[in-house]
Amino acid sequence: MELQAKPAKVGVLSCSGESEPEGTITRNAVRLVMEKYYPGVAVSLCLPLYLAGDGGEREFSKKYPVITVDGCEKACAKLSTEKYSGEVEYSIDIRRLLAEWGIKNKLSRSRPGELEWEITERVAGEIVSIIDKLVSEGKIEVQDTPGQ
Ligand code: SF4
Repeated sequence: MELQAKPAKVGVLSCSGESEPEGTITRNAVRLVMEKYYPGVAVSLCLPLYLAGDGGEREFSKKYPVITVDGCEKACAKLSTEKYSGEVEYSIDIRRLLAEWGIKNKLSRSRPGELEWEITERVAGEIVSIIDKLVSEGKIEVQDTPGQ
């Protein structure tokens, strides 16, 4: 019997909502995870390409676990992934996190300052915790990465 290799990557799909500050945070948080914490393991998917029907993007989400990161409760990234590729492993709604963290400040969409970057780091930390959990559950297999 042929053993199936465990996936070595995880897809992280941000909604990238341009009209909302939280959408900017989704994109920056995902970049941080890809470049700093899980390089070579966390792979981003392009939501517009995905929605346009690109086979490669949709196939990826069928083969690998996917975490969606949405700026608000409309959950565009989560809903589109579920519509075209099936269930997601985890989904993050930044507004729900902000409510949990008690952050009520008005955020800037185009000029992220200290607070926006602090939130971005915290959101990246949430994504990293989820990937850590996927690793500990044996759902993905990773070599040591420089960010770990
Ligand atoms: S989830 Fe919210 S912020 Fe993100 S693209 Fe959709 S409506 Fe915009």
